[in-house]
Amino acid sequence: MRSTPKRILVTGGAGFLGSHLCEKLLKQGHEVLCVDNYFTGRRANVAHLLSEPGFELMRHDVTFPLFVEVDEIYNLACPASPVHYQHDPVQTTKTSVHGAINMLGLAKRVGAKILQASTSEVYGDPTIHPQTEDYWGNVNPIGFRSCYDEGKRCAETLFFDYKRQHNLRIKVARIFNTYGPRMHPQDGRVVSNFIMQALEGRNITIYGEGDQTRSFCFVSDLIDGLMALMASPDEFTGPVNLGNPSEMTIRELAEKVVAMTGTGSKIVFEPLPSDDPMQRQPDITLAKTRLDWAPKVKLDDGLAATVAYFRDNWARLEAQPGL
Ligand code: NAD
Ligand code: UDP
Ligand code: UDP
Repeated sequence: MRSTPKRILVTGGAGFLGSHLCEKLLKQGHEVLCVDNYFTGRRANVAHLLSEPGFELMRHDVTFPLFVEVDEIYNLACPASPVHYQHDPVQTTKTSVHGAINMLGLAKRVGAKILQASTSEVYGDPTIHPQTEDYWGNVNPIGFRSCYDEGKRCAETLFFDYKRQHNLRIKVARIFNTYGPRMHPQDGRVVSNFIMQALEGRNITIYGEGDQTRSFCFVSDLIDGLMALMASPDEFTGPVNLGNPSEMTIRELAEKVVAMTGTGSKIVFEPLPSDDPMQRQPDITLAKTRLDWAPKVKLDDGLAATVAYFRDNWARLEAQPGL
């Protein structure tokens, strides 16, 4: 169903999730302003949108104020993979916190509805399983992951205080591990790592014993969830979990990628990074009941599409400098 055309700001729009979101919003007839500082995103991710009349691309860092006129804001700007967010941890916290303040200030000035891309990392290494939105989390405030986890937690705090203090229309999505085409091939996340290692015939690196679990959601499902949340009645703010509850161990994922690619790569075991959560699975009852949303894409189909993307774009992606 097409909604009334709006002018929509997507911060982090040249990144993995942001580029898919821009594409889908344009398809629905909206005007899209994509703002990105290209820290982990790339112009190439949105190059195919540049000829669309409703699309505008702006290089800007959200830690600085931004004065534009928009109806809705999706605040996605923030490096998402541990390798990237730990590269410059102070900038990561600034992006989450100062970025949220600036985007909330903008939303307040123009009366825009604003959605925050929060994360399952707000639950830290969870002591309840699966995770429900009323769980307050188990986060180390001073570890290597804290710049991301605590930055995102503080952003959530700011969203709810701007709602209580300034009556802003807010939405908070807690996104669980998402994968798909346009992931950065060198971002160090497990899906991109395993697929690139398999395609290049390198060792597949399992950190720890591989018994830790994750639940992987395909990108198109996640984008549908974000848009359903934005379109939901104003009284529904979230936080709401968005992810695919089908949980697996990292060892199972490695074996699946090996089987799917037919690679001769060996599976090897490396040390587990500190504070690496042992298990993670979203309880999506709230999203199902309030947003009528549930993921549809099966892991095998999503992985096949992702393998095809990396295979087809391999040479081009390899030629691009990483961090
Ligand atoms: P990504 O790294 O591909 O995209 C993030 C984008 O933000 C990049 O284009 C980057 O250049 C941009 N950016 C970073 N700092 C910025 C700044 N200061 N100013 C402007 N732009 C900036 O990651 P992604 O997977 O697309 O994640 C998008 C959002 O979703 C992030 O906020 C992330 O925390 C959240 N999220 C993602 C996942 C996932 O599994 N992909 C899970 C939980 C939460
Ligand atoms: N801000 C922005 N764009 C706007 C309006 C505000 O980037 O259109 C920034 C502004 O620079 C400020 C922040 O958002 O630092 C928070 O704004 P708010 O109005 O809440 O606070 P104040 O300006 O009173 O500090
Ligand atoms: N992981 C792994 N090998 C890799 C990259 C990651 O075993 O090459 C593990 C990592 O230790 C974690 C899980 O896979 O337990 C998911 O890692 P990712 O960085 O994708 O996401 P996050 O830890 O933020 O959920």
